[in-house]
Amino acid sequence: MNPSVPLWSEALPPPYPTFPGGTVRADIAIIGGGFAGLSAAYHLLDRRPGARVVVLEAGRIGAGASGHTTGMLGPGVGQSLVASVRRLGAPRARALYQATLRAVEEVRSLIINERIDCELEMTGQLVIARSSSARARLATLAATLTELGLPGEALDDASLARVLRLTPVPMESERGPAAVRLPVAGTLHPTKLLAGLADRVTQRGGTILEQVPVVGIAHGRPVTLTLATGGQVVADDVVVATAGYTSQLGILRGRILPVHLQVVVTDPLSADALRVIGWDGREGVLDARRVFNYCRLTADNRIVFGGGAPRYHWRGQPPATAEAAVLHQLAEEVQRTFPATTGIRAVSGWTGQIGYVLDTLPVIERLREYPAVLHVGGWCGHGVALSLASGAWVTRMLCDGVVPEDLPWYRNNPPLVPFEPVRWLAFRAVVGTMVWQDRWEERA
Ligand SMILES: Cc1cc2nc3c(=O)[nH]c(=O)nc-3n(C[C@H](O)[C@H](O)[C@H](O)COP(=O)(O)OP(=O)(O)OC[C@H]3O[C@@H](n4cnc5c(N)ncnc54)[C@H](O)[C@@H]3O)c2cc1C
Repeated sequence: MNPSVPLWSEALPPPYPTFPGGTVRADIAIIGGGFAGLSAAYHLLDRRPGARVVVLEAGRIGAGASGHTTGMLGPGVGQSLVASVRRLGAPRARALYQATLRAVEEVRSLIINERIDCELEMTGQLVIARSSSARARLATLAATLTELGLPGEALDDASLARVLRLTPVPMESERGPAAVRLPVAGTLHPTKLLAGLADRVTQRGGTILEQVPVVGIAHGRPVTLTLATGGQVVADDVVVATAGYTSQLGILRGRILPVHLQVVVTDPLSADALRVIGWDGREGVLDARRVFNYCRLTADNRIVFGGGAPRYHWRGQPPATAEAAVLHQLAEEVQRTFPATTGIRAVSGWTGQIGYVLDTLPVIERLREYPAVLHVGGWCGHGVALSLASGAWVTRMLCDGVVPEDLPWYRNNPPLVPFEPVRWLAFRAVVGTMVWQDRWEERA
């Protein structure tokens, strides 16, 4: 299956202007027109009406992960809550998870307050077990949620069967829950949201420029940004919201890795297929593997299904042939997941680039070498809620000069994997081990 444009692309607004040429002066320049960049522009203009805020986007808005996402709005970061407790201790892991819950709620409020029609459905999420070991993992997750006083409910087989019926998988032991329901979560249409957010930014006097790749960031304040189109932008402060593309700017290289994810999509499901699988609650669904699959329904009842191993390619560049093969594998996974009688199958798919940090926590802070430049990203594939909420955090940091909370993602020194081939090997080793562990446990 060759990659196609994302299903969501048809909802993109008409193009924004490109760079007018010469030198543009701004109070704040934002590099990147995805969820994070537009959220920063929106919140900064809310706080400082009349400020000269300019968003510089290399392609169209949503050209990065935000236009290619599955669109599941949910809590958590790139590591499981249980892993966070192990690494950070219970109080810090709890504070981190609570911040992500608030992020989900803030995104919901933003969409409602701004009346952005982006098919938001606050459905909750189901984390489901597809193996005995996944059931054991869900038992630990449910116990951890309870212990930390966080929202979540374990479901047994009968309760899960009432809400969702997938192809059964043989399991050696039925100990542990069949699923955990996370109530604070939902799904949305990513480009309808991007279009709405971009519109609110320009209504507030912000400028969005498309087809303007930034190629250089000078040291000092004000900061001069060099553009591939010629010309420059001079700004007092700069927000870098380029996610998986950050290393191309020559910053955080080896710390934020460009990693590729894949998604496939079905035709709208028939009434018969929906009757077989249930899914009346339309929850976002994730499985409890280490390298997990995830899926959701669209407003017209297509399934958007993501998953398979995240991929870091040599020097960050995927060969074209790799994309067709991974989409094909994911399409097979769809057929294994849903009962054969439903005839559910993937008809198209696409891939997208995210920013990945080896310790799976985001990176929000001023850069050491460029004190007037603030980086926001490193969402590790869990960025819908976080990137959309991050504009408010960035605004506090820029306007009040304070870090909003004592959380581990406010840092500018994520782990460094200095050069190839170590980078390539390290990533393949980490993901390869997780895939192998999942397969081993499912065979056991
Ligand atoms: C296939 C896929 C499925 C996903 N599913 C989910 C999900 O279900 N739930 C979830 O929470 N997360 C998911 N994610 C992750 C989530 O979509 C991202 O974390 C989020 O969209 C990141 O937003 P962002 O604005 O930080 O980055 P991006 O959307 O990548 O925005 C960065 C922008 O910067 C621009 N840019 C880059 N370099 C330059 C430059 N030099 N000059 C100017 N502009 C530049 C890019 O063109 C891009 O538009 C998924 C991601 C992918 C790829």
